[in-house]
Amino acid sequence: MKIGVLALHGAVIEHIEVLRKIGVEPVSVRLPEDLVGLSGLILPGGESTTMRKLVARWNLREPIMALARSGAPILGTCAGMIIVAKEIAGGDEPVFPLLDVTVERNAFGRQLDSFETELAMPIVGDRPVHAIFIRAPIIERVGPGVEVLARLPDGRVVAVRQRNVIAISFHPELAGETRIHRLIATMAAEYAEPGEGTGQRGAEPWSLREAK
Ligand code: GLN
Repeated sequence: MKIGVLALHGAVIEHIEVLRKIGVEPVSVRLPEDLVGLSGLILPGGESTTMRKLVARWNLREPIMALARSGAPILGTCAGMIIVAKEIAGGDEPVFPLLDVTVERNAFGRQLDSFETELAMPIVGDRPVHAIFIRAPIIERVGPGVEVLARLPDGRVVAVRQRNVIAISFHPELAGETRIHRLIATMAAEYAEPGEGTGQRGAEPWSLREAK
């Protein structure tokens, strides 16, 4: 089973290392053909405007949308969260309109540019996640069908899932955190080889089941 990391720009190598650490074969995705045979894709942090331009330039938009629509798990972290949102506050056009949320870029302003905190994220277990925020976006609006996975203590939403798409404001790959990647790997394994009772690929995506 292979999971891709969009490798145009940003925190690519860190995701590749986490995937290796958990025993998943990582693939650097730069061209549409790199997506062939993948069971999941990670969209890393970086600068979403740069990613938007490079995605268009290398004709990656349609093939990544097709992979996502086929039910393969997609994990967007930070800038990766921005590019999977259906709506970007301020009116930027969406890049991969997959997730029914509105994101606000650089939501913490200059005073709180970057910070670290412990967050409850029950989908990955009882132990809190060490969350590193770097000029991070926040989710302002959560559409129906979108599950909130983590909030800041003040209630603001920083991690969500809609079916096969997970988006988080922070950087697990910089914090030695492997559980979010393990979750994606579990989803990818199910996508690659649907278990009993799930029928054909895409017929009943794993993601429609309730998370434990
Ligand atoms: N501020 C960046 C953007 O708006 C995201 C920052 C990050 O990915 N660490 O694209």
